Amino acid sequence: MASRRVKIAPSILAADFSRLGEVVRETEAAGADYIHVDVMDGRFVPNLTIGPPVVAAIRSHTSLPLDVHVMTVEPERLVGDLVRAGGDIITVHWEAAAHLRRTVHLIKELGARAGVAINPATPAAMLVKALPDLDRVICLTVNPGYAGQSLIPSVLPKVRQLRSLIDHGGCAAELEVDGGLRVDNAASLVQHGGDVLVAGAAAYAEGKSVAERIAALRAAIDGASVA
Ligand code: ZN
Repeated sequence: MASRRVKIAPSILAADFSRLGEVVRETEAAGADYIHVDVMDGRFVPNLTIGPPVVAAIRSHTSLPLDVHVMTVEPERLVGDLVRAGGDIITVHWEAAAHLRRTVHLIKELGARAGVAINPATPAAMLVKALPDLDRVICLTVNPGYAGQSLIPSVLPKVRQLRSLIDHGGCAAELEVDGGLRVDNAASLVQHGGDVLVAGAAAYAEGKSVAERIAALRAAIDGASVA
């Protein structure tokens, strides 16, 4: 059995936007721990998604913490609006933040928790200096941009490396794994050290309710044996 409580963060990007408020309420009722919100600018990643007004709309439908993953160039320009819209955790990309330390401190000064995300090609070691300041680390297990991609297995050793850096660095950051989660790989992500699993299609694909999908993920997570 997993010895730590692993959390589930459904990514609203994979949901039906035409009934966003309803889906957010269903997701909270289904036992999700966070609502993960993917903000994309069409520059840092090819896709263009949502910004602060939609974050505010989501905020009005849930009391769950909003876990905002900022995939934009110059993220420092957006973090204030995202916190004011109701973001609780604001995570920016290492690859996009020219002044990472300054941006992390800005997020904290605004009253939110701060995180840094790294793409599949970015080594874990790049985060060593930043770790003591962080509340969250996101390890991308797909190249960011679109929901519904398959997990890149060669990134899994990096999840374990990040787990070790966090634990041995006396850092309290939660390690979130983002991309390609399925019921049949959830246990492996827990065993590699994930604290929070982002669920896109795994929460919102058609054919089953979000409650059924989160229950299946929870069962897979709870059944994971952790050394
Ligand atoms: Zn994300």
